[in-house]
Amino acid sequence: MKIPLITSIADLPPALKASVTPEEKACIKKLSGTNSLPLAVTPHFASLAGPHPGDPLRRQFMPSRNEFDPDAFALADPLGEARYRKTSRLVHQYRDRALLLAGGSCAGYCRFCFRRVRMSGGPGFINRIEIAEACAYLERHSEIREILISGGDPLTADNAALEQLMAALGKARPGMVLRICTRTPVTWPQRFSAKTIGLFAKHKPIRVMVHINHLRELEEEGGVSAGQILKSLVEAGIPVHVQTVLLKGINDSAKTLADLFRACLDLGLSPYYLFQLDLAPGSAHFRVPLKTGLKIYRDLGSLISGLALPSYAVDLPGGGGKIRLYDNVIVREEERPAGNVYLLADAGGKLWEYPVN
Ligand code: SF4
Repeated sequence: MKIPLITSIADLPPALKASVTPEEKACIKKLSGTNSLPLAVTPHFASLAGPHPGDPLRRQFMPSRNEFDPDAFALADPLGEARYRKTSRLVHQYRDRALLLAGGSCAGYCRFCFRRVRMSGGPGFINRIEIAEACAYLERHSEIREILISGGDPLTADNAALEQLMAALGKARPGMVLRICTRTPVTWPQRFSAKTIGLFAKHKPIRVMVHINHLRELEEEGGVSAGQILKSLVEAGIPVHVQTVLLKGINDSAKTLADLFRACLDLGLSPYYLFQLDLAPGSAHFRVPLKTGLKIYRDLGSLISGLALPSYAVDLPGGGGKIRLYDNVIVREEERPAGNVYLLADAGGKLWEYPVN
């Protein structure tokens, strides 16, 4: 499926094109043609972005020289998914749910991507043999009740490929919940035709897990918006859960987050997770210090209702799994050669490290 992507400065909307600094030009050139997230943004998302270098949408796709700064805490596989890989595409870390890495690309590259190292140049959409392998595993593991279909972004495959995948999963494990993990409603809402929504509705139980970071990502451009698409999904009986990454300089204030989550609730979406940033290479400049994140979350709780409040969580670096973050979550602080770290406990009490800054 042809994804509409802008990959060169010349093709950016005029105001954005004029705003690219010499430093950014150098970064774009350096990343061009590499497997390290070159510039790629959809015309829709680019049109929503403003030209100011600090614009919260622009910062999400415009390469910056900070990506080349050394980060002693960076991990090539921040979530430790390789440890739990059971078939070529299936990761089984939590007892009752599994992750299917179905698609190799995205409708635009986020500069903070947690799968940065294997995102660009990764494998294409899951093929029949890989689907059969995953289904055989699912048939043997009846404890798995939910399958997260992620990628890249599965919506970069066409409807026929999605139908084939969803039908095979439904046949292997009738009643298993399909969780479609996607940012496409935000970056490429035109992808969601009535047929696509109908396809999802046909494969219930299904849930859409959408990645949204800022209120402005829901705005209309050229007669289409993420807000309309997500509302249509809800109206078709498809629950939509919102996942947000806490990002320095983009959404790191209680007010900005409150505005986003209130708007989501108004559309019928459920704010689900606010994620502390994973330790992907080249993304440290987006990392909000953990104690600042806890303060923002506390303030956020006083601004919005419980219905609009997602859980604040982190994937413990290196494969410790997801834990919720709250005021007493830090066990202690210790020194390391790379800098100070907090020790955080997983569900079993094992301690994992997360950088202080
Ligand atoms: S949409 Fe998700 S997987 Fe794709 S580049 Fe952005 S963060 Fe990475």
